Amino acid sequence: MTTSRHIEPGREAGLLRLKAFLPAAGRAYADRRNSDFGPERRDNVSVLSPYLRHRLVTEAEVLEAVLGRHSPAAAEKFIQEVLWRAYFKGHLETRPEIWRRYREALAGQVAALDGKGGFRKACEAALAGRTGIDAFDAWVAELEETGYLHNHARMWFASIWIFTLRLPWELGADFMIRHLLDGDPASNTCSWRWVGGLHTRGKTYLARPDNIAGFTGGRFSPRGLAREAPPLDEPPLPAARRPREPLAAPATGVAGLLLTEEDLHPESLGLDGVNPVAIAGASAVEGRSPLPVSDAVRAFTESALGDGLARAARHWRAEATMLPSLTAVALGDWARRHGLSRIVTAYAPVGPVAEALAEAAPVLTRQGIALVEVRRAYDEACWPHATRGFFALKEKIPSIFEQLGLERGASVQGELFGDGRPPAGGFAGGAGQAG
Ligand SMILES: Cc1cc2nc3c(=O)[nH]c(=O)nc-3n(C[C@H](O)[C@H](O)[C@H](O)COP(=O)(O)OP(=O)(O)OC[C@H]3O[C@@H](n4cnc5c(N)ncnc54)[C@H](O)[C@@H]3O)c2cc1C
Repeated sequence: MTTSRHIEPGREAGLLRLKAFLPAAGRAYADRRNSDFGPERRDNVSVLSPYLRHRLVTEAEVLEAVLGRHSPAAAEKFIQEVLWRAYFKGHLETRPEIWRRYREALAGQVAALDGKGGFRKACEAALAGRTGIDAFDAWVAELEETGYLHNHARMWFASIWIFTLRLPWELGADFMIRHLLDGDPASNTCSWRWVGGLHTRGKTYLARPDNIAGFTGGRFSPRGLAREAPPLDEPPLPAARRPREPLAAPATGVAGLLLTEEDLHPESLGLDGVNPVAIAGASAVEGRSPLPVSDAVRAFTESALGDGLARAARHWRAEATMLPSLTAVALGDWARRHGLSRIVTAYAPVGPVAEALAEAAPVLTRQGIALVEVRRAYDEACWPHATRGFFALKEKIPSIFEQLGLERGASVQGELFGDGRPPAGGFAGGAGQAG
């Protein structure tokens, strides 16, 4: 039985999850994905998000494996869910003001937590899982214990936080991102905004007791939930802009490879010709929040980075080092030790890693060390379609897959299945099978 307890970090653990889940990624997923049977029974969803978020396993690999097992029609729902991650990333990339406002509001709310009175008490009760709403209090405990919540539980949680407890959405989003192993600036911030009616303006999500009871197999019967979900409001956002350009430099000079928690499969990043002489890992996980992130999140991120470093060291036969921080000082020291003039890293989307790199880059440049980002073909293919609603991106899925060669490719299949590959699906009309 698949559980969401003990989510092991590392690519191998992610590939094992993928392999175990594959048979259920077809019509079975579409039929059963909305049910939250509790942490001991997770075989109706993949629990791949901690791996996908850190790119221990990439979206392209998951999609490729799914298309190798199911027809596009049978796996349509699962494929769309995987693409939601790219959609939200592209959305934040093209509207960084959302992240700026979120951080600014959060800083004010965290400061207000030091004050006295009702606000502080209400927040403390919610964050400690002492609201008296059975489902909500159980999800707080589950999140702290496992670092994971089912998607439906996240939606109910956010809805109760905003509309029943009437607490600021930013503080709830912060609580999640501090505890989720898959905590992600784009998916988390945009999903909270979606529930509150800020993403699709005016459209909110109301958690209903009968819906919660029904989709949790009767485990909960929450009382006292809000009956209405009036949309939150905010000043209009600036128009969507193009994603910023990756940090660039001439492709010459001694190169080192930097891994961060944004992308831990450098083997497939497209680094042909880089030949790094040294590899380093550094994390900005503490930058997720002005409050401390959970021990579980810190440990998962650190192990995931260690796993990426070990693979990269084998792949490029170069020395790998874990740096104490993602700062100009740590990067500069490491670069000088190895005589580097270029530090190559995966493009960091909006969030703490991008902020740390943006701060370090000019300092390093003055020391004659260029920071160079490489953006994945997957992001290049998806993000241009994330400027409006998800529907616009969904329509483009066949052409995105064609652009990426996903209907033909099979790079992960060998790692998953050795020689005994399952029958191929694909948009070209392969004989797929439903789960
Ligand atoms: C309030 C709220 C906060 C969230 N915060 C995060 C977060 O910090 N990090 C995060 O990765 N996801 C977040 N999500 C999205 C989603 O809940 C999780 O990605 C999903 O539940 C992960 O479980 P799974 O891997 O078993 O999903 P599956 O159902 O097996 O889906 C497969 C994959 O598709 C992607 N996916 C599925 N649903 C979504 C979605 N709604 N949005 C974006 N991608 C999706 C994930 O990569 C997931 O691993 C949030 C959703 C809500 C409602």
